[in-house]
Amino acid sequence: MSSFETIDPATGAAFAEVHEASAAEVDAVVATAAEAFAGNREWRVPHVRAGALTAVARRVEERAAELAELETRDTGKPISQARADVVATARYFDYYAGAVDKFEGTSIPLGPDFVDYTVREPHGVCAQIIPWNYPLQVAARCAAPALATGNAVVVKPSELGSMTPRVLAEIALEAGVPEGFLQVVTGHGPVGAALVDNPGVAHVTFVGSAATGRVVAHACAERLVPLELELGGKSPSVVFADADLERAVPVIVKALIQNAGQSCSAGTRVLVAAAIEDELLERLATALASQSIGPGSEDADLGPLISAAQLERAEGMLERALAGGARTLVGGARPAGQEGWYLEPTLVAGAGPEAEIFNEEVFGPVLVAESFAGEAAAIRLANATPYGLVASVWTADVGRAHRVAGAIEAGQVYVNSYGVAGGVELPFGGVRNSGYGRGKGLAALHAYSRVKNVCVAL
Ligand code: NAD
Repeated sequence: MSSFETIDPATGAAFAEVHEASAAEVDAVVATAAEAFAGNREWRVPHVRAGALTAVARRVEERAAELAELETRDTGKPISQARADVVATARYFDYYAGAVDKFEGTSIPLGPDFVDYTVREPHGVCAQIIPWNYPLQVAARCAAPALATGNAVVVKPSELGSMTPRVLAEIALEAGVPEGFLQVVTGHGPVGAALVDNPGVAHVTFVGSAATGRVVAHACAERLVPLELELGGKSPSVVFADADLERAVPVIVKALIQNAGQSCSAGTRVLVAAAIEDELLERLATALASQSIGPGSEDADLGPLISAAQLERAEGMLERALAGGARTLVGGARPAGQEGWYLEPTLVAGAGPEAEIFNEEVFGPVLVAESFAGEAAAIRLANATPYGLVASVWTADVGRAHRVAGAIEAGQVYVNSYGVAGGVELPFGGVRNSGYGRGKGLAALHAYSRVKNVCVAL
């Protein structure tokens, strides 16, 4: 196979051919990156890199409409969400351009006979394997800090979302990122595997499912290559009886339906104090039922799922939950009259904390509810899945907010909110099956550089 078709999830029709890279092509791309990294002295000056990354941000803005339309066509997401992804993309390049010439080493006091200091060095060639749900935004989130710290980057997008990362690499060249520093290789899983196994690759970032993450972690262990592992989640919104439901409901709904539930950070569990269970679930059901569904180009609240397989997988999980005694309070079906792979926003209750649907990512707009009695039970339930990516706590009690935020095992906890636009500045990553390492924020500059200590005897 030297190429494959990419499909518009709103219609199920193919709209472009994508190249499937061969093993030899992967080798050639890594060799080009290694040569660029070794040979470009000027690029080692932080403010030179900062200048080019700022130019990338401006060029992304100039091509914003084209990027957003392409992202919507390729992934099915509502056009306003694709536009927000483009804004975040430019923001990543601006943020790391602004940060990298302030990213300093330290001097360590050892007394009058020594001078000791640390420097931050790039790894070399960084391979970045990314998923289909936010192809442009995740490419930017991984590539921008890696470029800022001086690495050469090879991005392997998902076979289901290859289009915009290719344009990003084109934009980088136009904006003055030297040739070889940002390349994209397209294809299926084996292309990613060839990249991870390539001896020229010095650092790997994997963003995707826990199952593939394990395979990539094994491959990296074999070569002892450092790895950033950003995986999935089953993130809870924990709602106490004193929460402001007027404020909470639209935020919990958005945390679910963003990208039709196909976000690693989607808020897919709602844990509610027994005293307000009926009221909250009723409000959520009403709000979910009122969301519009349609093609991303029409900017409905929810677009289609990425593929027929993804829709069938979500339906299978719903069927098993219902067979196990859960009930659907709203949604659960394909909306009538749509051609693509749509699923209504769905609220499921009564599955129980042992159920598959409570523990595993559906990767569709399915919210699972469970009630609790007391703070300790809420924390137990929040921590009861194999994942730990994001959580939110809803309460008017400031002491409880901090206690629960401290006790939840997750990489990111929001209080009386869920996500902030882009979240570019905030360190992001998981615990347990949600992975390890931290991207975004200044944390990513640490991830994409390594410390060298130099000790000089005077
Ligand atoms: P996936 O694991 O199926 O694929 C991810 C990438 O890995 C793709 O590019 C794929 O081609 C590649 N790949 C497949 N097999 C490989 C192998 N053996 N070696 C190397 N690469 C290989 O994930 P997906 O279905 O594309 O994305 C959905 C998942 O991504 C969800 O679990 C979601 O939660 C997660 N995700 C996590 C984050 C985060 O930051 N934590 C962000 C977005 C998505």
